[in-house]
Amino acid sequence: SAKAVNGDILQAIGGIPSETKDTVVEAIGVDKYFGAHQVLKDVSLTVKRGEVVVIVGPSGSGKTTFIRCINHLEKIQKGRILVNGHLIGYRERNGRLYEDAERNIARQRREIGMVFQRFNLFPHLTALGNIVEAPIQVRGIARAEAVETGKALLARVGLADKANSYPAQLSGGQQQRVAIARALAMRPSLMLFDEATSALDPEMIGEVLEVMKELAREGMTMIAVTHEMGFAREVADRVVMMDEGRIIEDTDPTRFFTAPASDRSKAFLARIL
Ligand code: ADP
Repeated sequence: SAKAVNGDILQAIGGIPSETKDTVVEAIGVDKYFGAHQVLKDVSLTVKRGEVVVIVGPSGSGKTTFIRCINHLEKIQKGRILVNGHLIGYRERNGRLYEDAERNIARQRREIGMVFQRFNLFPHLTALGNIVEAPIQVRGIARAEAVETGKALLARVGLADKANSYPAQLSGGQQQRVAIARALAMRPSLMLFDEATSALDPEMIGEVLEVMKELAREGMTMIAVTHEMGFAREVADRVVMMDEGRIIEDTDPTRFFTAPASDRSKAFLARIL
């Protein structure tokens, strides 16, 4: 028995979303609360296919929460988030909005690859084992094919010789590259990066950023929360600045770094650069 969510949501979402080929993410008027604490306030963001969007902002401004909402790892209380035209986490029936079944959410989530600060590889599986697990178990891809793809992915992230290594035998940077390969193995149409380099030793940040930059150049649609302003400068199509649960600026990197519109962006840049 599906549980009806807030009736207001349906008004806010304006009916059944239409398929939008060129738009990968469409967030409109998103509110998110943890208890009484509102951490996202009327957040709207559209990401087109192939776009690279970098989200910046002070700690606690809601960046991580927002991208977790895109993947439906967090529920929202108002607004709508569409990924590839699908209302993630909810479905509409007879003009009402219902929370979707967990297995449907899982299916929708497969289109989205997510890379976390902590790589969370399975310790008992090799690098290749980590990569092929989900394609075989979840997508039902034949082992031989998954292994072939997995090896190609490992090569693509510079780890062709580490297929049989276990996570404990790999450096943090190598583990994170395996985590990226693992996400890509599901053939996502969108990649979310949540401070993917923040937990790494400084000397390993570059190798992970290189993989991310490569992906960006190859046309992967990406949203990255990061403090790496060099990455933003080099590959972002847009920089989105969040502050206190709101998007306060959404602009191209050149403009953001040379002529930020708001005083808060200026203050943030002065602190971080
Ligand atoms: P950022 O990524 O910009 O640092 P977060 O999205 O992590 O910000 O956090 C935004 C706000 O939400 C913060 O005030 C944080 O304490 C709060 N918050 C995040 N996750 C939770 C949670 N699971 N429960 C309660 N509060 C949370």
